[in-house]
Amino acid sequence: VQRLATVPTAPPDAILGLTEAFNADKNPNKMNLSVGVYKDASGKTPILNCVKEAERRLVDDESTKGYLGIDGLPSYREQIRALVFGDQLPADRIAVLQTPGGTGALRVAANFLVTQLSPIRIWMSSPTWANHPAVFSAAGLPTETYRYLGSDRTSFDLDAMLEDLNEKTSPGDAILLHACCHNPTGIDPTADQWKEIAKTVSERRLLPLIDFAYQGFGDGLDEDAAGLHTILSTVDEAIVCTSASKNFGLYSERVGAVSLVAGDSAAMKASQSQLKAIVRANYSNPPRHGGAIVAAVLEDAELTAQWKVELEEMRQRITRLRNQFVETMKSTGKGHDFSFLLPQRGMFSFSGLTRMQVDQLKNEFGIYIVGSGRINVAGMNEEKMQSLCDAVAKVLE
Ligand code: PLP
Repeated sequence: VQRLATVPTAPPDAILGLTEAFNADKNPNKMNLSVGVYKDASGKTPILNCVKEAERRLVDDESTKGYLGIDGLPSYREQIRALVFGDQLPADRIAVLQTPGGTGALRVAANFLVTQLSPIRIWMSSPTWANHPAVFSAAGLPTETYRYLGSDRTSFDLDAMLEDLNEKTSPGDAILLHACCHNPTGIDPTADQWKEIAKTVSERRLLPLIDFAYQGFGDGLDEDAAGLHTILSTVDEAIVCTSASKNFGLYSERVGAVSLVAGDSAAMKASQSQLKAIVRANYSNPPRHGGAIVAAVLEDAELTAQWKVELEEMRQRITRLRNQFVETMKSTGKGHDFSFLLPQRGMFSFSGLTRMQVDQLKNEFGIYIVGSGRINVAGMNEEKMQSLCDAVAKVLE
């Protein structure tokens, strides 16, 4: 019997599927501005020098490939706690587990919410990263959306967000927040807006699940954590999902963390035991290498200093490219004002391009961006900026 003959083909992943199409495209001037990966001026996704040095040391010093504990490498977990939370909260209220990437962290968090806190649902911004609803649904966590993007598609609509939270959520619901570099819009709340969000989250008794995948890509390491700290100052409990994919460039090493903040040490320990039970039944324990690299960098003052310089270079390059895009669009002389991109933060910019314009860019110019109009600014290139802007101006005609 062939039971597999009836299995239907799954649709390609909206973002990674585009990269497959890009790889097959024969256009010599093609440009992939879809997937969220940083590229340097030569078009490569570099290995940071601090990472290379940490790896050299690991090759010399590593003495075993034995399993890590279910929650990962203790030194990595301690460094992530310090990096993300500083000394805002006592360490005995925070359980940090090393996970396979930020995606793994989100999945563990979703499993935890479903198994421990049901009935529960999670409110996500509209729009959000396409994998958020996919991961949550796969874990059986019901999803709802709150408004985020203004009707002009270029600004944050705080009033609409707060109205939805006040009128639609129930006490005990979870709310997904992007700590910085909102994906896909690049539009983050201001410090004052974070205060209002925090007040509403606390008043509505919502449990924040904070996705912090881009620390260091917005305004700086500490600056990017400010919104998170504002939220944590008004609630007793939260879950934070972090990733070293972007800020350490460790995409393929799959290293991230889920951090649970509880009201006191006893509650933290009980929840920590449940998180470990979830991991044990899923991937058992995380891979070592990525966590060992991050720990080696952050435990060494010199490597940490080098990392901060390299991270700052990536951050500034993205800002330069965003500015250059806006300038070059202006210089096409067709009255295209993209200055609304300037306050946007992180790898992505929400261009306002329509689905049809996006399709035209792909079919006629070999320029690949996501259907929502989200552009990976970190994939742009100084040399190809003029041809990119000429193509965009053409589809806007
Ligand atoms: N969260 C957001 C908003 C992201 O954009 C990403 C990556 O693109 C992730 C989480 C997870 O990244 P990773 O699983 O590669 O660490």
